[in-house]
Amino acid sequence: MGEFSLIRDFFSRPTTGDGIVIGVGDDAAVLEPRPGCEQVIATDTLVEGVHFPALFDASDLGFRSVQVNLSDLAAMGAEPAWMTLALTHPDGARDWVAGFADGLYAAATEGGIELVGGDTTRGPNIVVTVTVIGHVPSGAALARSGAAAGELIWISGWPGNAAAGLRLQDATPLDEHHELLQRFRRPTARVGLGRALRGIATSCIDVSDGLLQDLGHITAASGVAAQIDLDALPLSAALKSAFPADAETLALTGGDDYELCFTASPRDAALVSAAATTAGTEVTAIGRILDGTGLSALRGGAPVELPAGGFDHFGNAS
Ligand code: ADP
Ligand code: MG
Repeated sequence: MGEFSLIRDFFSRPTTGDGIVIGVGDDAAVLEPRPGCEQVIATDTLVEGVHFPALFDASDLGFRSVQVNLSDLAAMGAEPAWMTLALTHPDGARDWVAGFADGLYAAATEGGIELVGGDTTRGPNIVVTVTVIGHVPSGAALARSGAAAGELIWISGWPGNAAAGLRLQDATPLDEHHELLQRFRRPTARVGLGRALRGIATSCIDVSDGLLQDLGHITAASGVAAQIDLDALPLSAALKSAFPADAETLALTGGDDYELCFTASPRDAALVSAAATTAGTEVTAIGRILDGTGLSALRGGAPVELPAGGFDHFGNAS
């Protein structure tokens, strides 16, 4: 199966053409800048055996490779526009590529992003690199660096669900765990929420390496400390039922959540709730930004230790 027929048959679906002067098929894509906007660009690579197991379903991989990138745009408050795909595969088997493309386009359609180019090569392992380009009104991008003492810390959705799904993959999957498995295999980036938080959130990050670690990036970039109220942590019913003893640890330190963690003034709590309602995503206030450095936690109003797994990664910013 040749490279050109793979591109023609699987990666040349029609686009709406919005801003695309030249798409797939020439030496490079030509894209029209959107007036009044800045462009936001992110890249993520998924390597077989490192980021996903060898037998990961092709369609799920295609879906996931787009969503993990959309999650970076979401964290910046950007509106997705275009993407490129660099695909390396051992033999380019048509069945596999067809499934992969189906998942990729499903995620792209859902996220409102269009494939405008890429590269297709043979290699010993499957490697997928997606680069996404989005727009924000000039000056409106959300960054990690804007959190200030007194602000509330918020998390979207249900942290820990994806990490639970990863654990369950190796076990015999039960129906009741389906929601957890899906969150790992086919995460949906919080794109609408990120956009709705422009002008409201003072800092934002997408949680890919565990809530504590990624919140640690916000505190480090902003020069502040964070205190988490463990009683407020949203734990899904599915998570608590599958891992009653570990639910909280999975929510704090498990990876692959693709939720948004952000800060906002307590005065803007109603605006945050309204943004979440607009986006159709739940959000929960889980703590407060303080002066100082590092992360701490309260349970029942009293200070407690955070799990070492997450804490080690960010230390206390010394
Ligand atoms: P070149 O050799 O000039 O780099 P390629 O043969 O690699 O050209 O690519 C031909 C066209 O197909 C280009 O427009 C490229 O962007 C596009 N393309 C290649 N692989 C993919 C892919 N996996 N998905 C989308 N577009 C692709
Ligand atoms: Mg090429």
